[in-house]
Amino acid sequence: APALEIKNLVLEYPGRGRKNKVRAVDDVSLTIERGEILGLVGESGSGKSTVGRCAIRLLDPTAGTVSVGGRDITKLSTKQLRPLRRYFSIVFQDPASTLDPKMTIGESIAEPLVLHKVLSGNALTSRVTELLDQVQLSGHYRNRYPHELSGGQRQRIAIARALALEPKLLIADEPTSALDVSVQAKVLDLFLDLQQSLHFACLFISHDLAVVDLLADRVAVMRKGELVEVGERDQVLHAP
Ligand code: ADP
Ligand code: ADP
Repeated sequence: APALEIKNLVLEYPGRGRKNKVRAVDDVSLTIERGEILGLVGESGSGKSTVGRCAIRLLDPTAGTVSVGGRDITKLSTKQLRPLRRYFSIVFQDPASTLDPKMTIGESIAEPLVLHKVLSGNALTSRVTELLDQVQLSGHYRNRYPHELSGGQRQRIAIARALALEPKLLIADEPTSALDVSVQAKVLDLFLDLQQSLHFACLFISHDLAVVDLLADRVAVMRKGELVEVGERDQVLHAP
C-alpha cells in the first residue's frame, strides 16, 4: 500500500459567520509511494499546509479519505489513532511549534520515545545521542535549551525529534523557509541525506520551486485549494 493516499479531500474552515466558510482544500487526491518525496507547491494560501495537516489528522477532513500505509485514518478515534502516530510525523516552518522552550534538547528528542514507551534508561540516552548525531549535532547539545541554539540548529533538533520513532511518512511543511539562505542549503542537504538513508516517504511542502527541484521525486501543484497538476519533477518543473 502507498505511504499516503488522499482521496477527494475537502477541508472547510468554519470562518467567522455561519455562511463564511473557507474551502481551503477542494477535492484533492494524491498518492505518495513508500520512500518517495512528493513536493507540494503553490502560492501562499493555496491550501498546502491544510493538506499536510489533514494527512496526519491534525485536522478532520470535511469530506474525502486519508489512508496511511493502507489504513484509512479518517474515522479513527483518538485512541485508535494513537498507535498509528508512530507511523507519521511532521516538521513545521517554525521549530518553536514543536520544541518546548522549558525542555532541554535531549528531553525534546526523547519525549516521543518516552510517550510511546519505546525506550528508557541507557537505551534511551544512546538513542538520543544517535539522533543528535544524525542531524550533525554533538551530544553536548542535549543539556541545552532551544533559545541557546541558532535557528538552523533548532530546526535540526525538530527534525531529530520528528524522526525519533522512525516514521514511514514525514510531512515537512516549509521546514527551511524561515532560515537564512546559507543555512537553508545546509539543512536541505542534511534532510536529503537523512531521507536517503532512512527511506521515509515525505510530503514536502514549499512555495519555493528551487527547493522542491532539489529533492522531490514528483511534484504536485495547488492553486486556490485545488490540485492543478501532478507528475514527475522534471515534467512539472522543466517541461518546455
Ligand atoms: P498554504 O499552506 O498554501 O499557504 P493554507 O493551507 O495555510 O495555505 O491556507 C489555505 C486557506 O485556508 C487560506 O485561505 C487560509 O487563509 C485559510 N486558512 C488556513 N488556516 C485557517 C484557519 N485556521 N481558519 C480559517 N482559515 C484558514
Ligand atoms: P502558511 O501559509 O505557512 O500556512 P500562514 O501564515 O498562512 O502560514 O498561517 C499561519 C497559521 O495561521 C496557521 O496555523 C494557519 O492555520 C492559521 N491561519 C491562516 N489563515 C488563517 C485565517 N484566515 N484564519 C485563521 N487562522 C488562519
